Amino acid sequence: MTGSIRFRFWGVRGSIATPGPKTVRYGGNTPCVEVQASDHRIILDGGTGLRCLGEGLMREGQPIDADLVLTHTHWDHIQGIPFFTPAFIPGNTFRLHGQNKGPYSLKKVLEGQMTDPNFPVPLSIMGSELSFHELEPGDSLKIGDDVLIKTRPMRHPNECLGIRIEHAGRVLVYCTDTEHDPESGELDENVLALADGADVFIYDAMYTEESYRNGKVGWGHSTYTEALRLARAAKVRKLFFFHHDPYSEDDFLDDQLRWARAETVSEPLEVFMSREGPSYEI
Ligand SMILES: [Zn+2]
Ligand SMILES: [Zn+2]
Repeated sequence: MTGSIRFRFWGVRGSIATPGPKTVRYGGNTPCVEVQASDHRIILDGGTGLRCLGEGLMREGQPIDADLVLTHTHWDHIQGIPFFTPAFIPGNTFRLHGQNKGPYSLKKVLEGQMTDPNFPVPLSIMGSELSFHELEPGDSLKIGDDVLIKTRPMRHPNECLGIRIEHAGRVLVYCTDTEHDPESGELDENVLALADGADVFIYDAMYTEESYRNGKVGWGHSTYTEALRLARAAKVRKLFFFHHDPYSEDDFLDDQLRWARAETVSEPLEVFMSREGPSYEI
């Protein structure tokens, strides 16, 4: 697959999984995005969608080799890891990348969610080859000789990494769990730097302007309107609204997408609502 980036959403929902008939079309799993660049598989976040990705990988056959990049370790971004079947199978290899948090290493934090009495088996029972790599805001990471990952800090409680993946002249940017500055109105320079000229820009659009102003300022998430502002300023080609609010049902997301497409109808920018299932290629 040289010369392109393929990606698929396995989890698009923020904060907590929301299964049910009113979220089934866009999906109710928490964040997980699979990215394939050349023969490299990169997994962005390990929310509940990671369990479903694991089932898909098991059907593809072994051995499986992937880099799992965690933007941060809030529950909705790591809860799929204890249920990621390929990690239990010897012969598979997973390199986990993320921030250390104060006195806690990434490994320690992930061990924590699987520690008695929170979970019946410890992380150490996983039979695949697991390695842990510190990734701090501003760090870059090379995967093979043709994939470059750049990071910047996002505005989010307990900190979060924004991610830009470059491969063969294609760029995919993943900025979730980030809040704009509602007072100054200035665009976030870290988001802009990552999103600059991107083919795909996946952005935290958890709220409408109205719901954000109605008690959600300071919660660490952003809006549909800010996503459009950033996408236009950074001249991205495709914008994907992401990290859907658990209270945003499918029909509501349809309405937001219709609104955004009407707003951008005469612009080169294409707008999408992130949805579990389809594969995209850029
Ligand atoms: Zn989140
Ligand atoms: Zn978070």
